[in-house]
Amino acid sequence: MSKKEPISLHHKPDTRLCLNCGFPNRASDKLCMYCKTSLFEEASLLSWIRQTYLILRWRWQLKERRDKANGFSQSYLPILKNLGYFVVGLLLFVVGLYFVSTGLTDSSFSSGLIGMLFLFYGFFTLKSVFISK
Ligand SMILES: [Zn+2]
Repeated sequence: MSKKEPISLHHKPDTRLCLNCGFPNRASDKLCMYCKTSLFEEASLLSWIRQTYLILRWRWQLKERRDKANGFSQSYLPILKNLGYFVVGLLLFVVGLYFVSTGLTDSSFSSGLIGMLFLFYGFFTLKSVFISK
């Protein structure tokens, strides 16, 4: 027999995925360690498709967990950044409109000026979202 090795470091090709929740169990297990569903099912095309789907889902979940550990993934970051700019630009625009409208009703020059400034910044923030790089 081979030397003693920690089981967790062993690569196990015979993992049996739970058909109910997708948890990878040891091949020797008869019940899912996670949800206690029986791991034995007829070898039909349907269960094969389901198994494949669960393997993909499990991998995706692992990947997602890794991405969360690393912060946001690279592909999401620009979208979120643009979304942030969009919201900020929109807010500036709305605040600007508010100041301009109060400036007009109160015939206050300073309010109008502040409003114009906000509109200006809002406009350029929004512009940088849609016309970027
Ligand atoms: Zn399960």
